[in-house]
Amino acid sequence: MRFEPVIGLEVHAQLDTETKIFCNCSTSFGASPNAHTCPVCTGMPGVLPVLNRQAVTYAIKTALATNCTVARESRFDRKNYFYPDLPKGYQITQYAAPIAEHGHLMIELEDGSEKKIGITRIHMEEDAGKLIHDPDRPKSMVDLNRTGIPLVEIVSEPDIRTPKEAGAYLRKLHAIVRYIGICNGNMEEGSFRCDANISLRPVGQEEFGTRTELKNLNSFRNVEKAIAYEIQRQTYRLEEGHEIVQETRLWDTARNRTASMRSKEEAHDYRYFPEPDLVPLIVDDEWMTEVKDSLPELPDAKRARFMEQYAMSAYDASVLTSGRSLADYFEEAAKGLKDAKLAANWVMGPVLGLLKNGEVTIESVSVTAGRLAELLKLLEANTINAKAAKTVFDEMVASGKTPGEIVKEMGLEQVSDQSALDDLVTKVMDANPDELEAYRGGKTKLFSFFMGQIMKQSRGKADPKVVTRILKEKL
Ligand code: ADP
Ligand code: MG
Ligand code: ZN
Repeated sequence: MRFEPVIGLEVHAQLDTETKIFCNCSTSFGASPNAHTCPVCTGMPGVLPVLNRQAVTYAIKTALATNCTVARESRFDRKNYFYPDLPKGYQITQYAAPIAEHGHLMIELEDGSEKKIGITRIHMEEDAGKLIHDPDRPKSMVDLNRTGIPLVEIVSEPDIRTPKEAGAYLRKLHAIVRYIGICNGNMEEGSFRCDANISLRPVGQEEFGTRTELKNLNSFRNVEKAIAYEIQRQTYRLEEGHEIVQETRLWDTARNRTASMRSKEEAHDYRYFPEPDLVPLIVDDEWMTEVKDSLPELPDAKRARFMEQYAMSAYDASVLTSGRSLADYFEEAAKGLKDAKLAANWVMGPVLGLLKNGEVTIESVSVTAGRLAELLKLLEANTINAKAAKTVFDEMVASGKTPGEIVKEMGLEQVSDQSALDDLVTKVMDANPDELEAYRGGKTKLFSFFMGQIMKQSRGKADPKVVTRILKEKL
């Protein structure tokens, strides 16, 4: 029997506010344990939560950017469970009446087609703290700095069918939250986290099978790998006539497999009820308009514009709009060029190459967009040839000097002067009489041999176009 995977993702994104969702404590990462706490977020008796307006604005932004309908009235509930990282004994979360519902995202598949992935709901909630289990100590410790940091949970419809689609959805959502500036997207620090729900059903069957939920997926690669593993595991079990147990499983990065964490029988009964300390959240027209007006150009719109404005392929446009800073970098590098494709190639090649080889972000990359633009202008004006341009680029990385300085210092100006190149071509022909005879006897492949010799003699500076023309004439 053949099976079809059914996948739905739940994404938690930490909202990039200055302060926590119900108190004034700082949300900044990396402070010493429990430095960012107060009576409210440590759950002292008698305190009252006060909702952070900026957090709501960010949630509305997220909703609008994912085509959701924003609820004009939403509410908060208490989700009760006892755990050391949640000192109140309950988490304040939106359950019965979330801030947004009925959205969708478009993802691009490998064959170039697009697919719509539904978003069921987006709700706001507070984050929990962190337990630290130090194997060298006989006790566990708790850090409550993260307690009360605002989150949005974005729940997808079970519309995803493959690990690749899951990866594409997650990357798209990640790009969007970064574009609109509501979340820093740092997966390693846990600012953007994903749980994946996976089930299988016989091909052709409408009804969904029993699902498992995967946690601890802290990179795009791990999400794809864990889902692929889980599909494989469930397939074997079903083929062997076993049932799938509804359970939560953890992805083990070291062993590349999932392992059971807790089963449905151990699932909590959260005894949700309305949070009595918060009034309903009302979003009026003015607030909606304000947020709408603050939205930047989103990835899909930018991608469409790049394809149109720069006559770019869908693939190039996807790569260059995958991040807002990268898109800005490209546009600045392409400014004033006759051919934007030149900038696209250089950004996707050498510049992204720097990021692969250790430089950290496009914002801090050693060759700025302005400098790259200068370099590409020299190339377009034929002041230097393509080979010299790569030399200049590498030297810009190494020395931080401007392209103009480097070209001058290294003497890389391209030689396009007709008579100088005439002489050079003649010299190379005279020095290689055997090859010349062979060429004239029909071995036209030797053309590239002559080109190579001439370029070498000119130490890479000859204008290949002019040399080609002269060489063709003389040969
Ligand atoms: P819970 O809160 O218990 O995790 P939800 O109903 O909120 O349950 O669903 C969570 C996620 O699981 C959603 O993304 C949804 O699309 C997905 N999901 C629901 N049923 C299935 C299924 N049978 N197979 C795969 N994913 C599913
Ligand atoms: Mg869940
Ligand atoms: Zn606090």
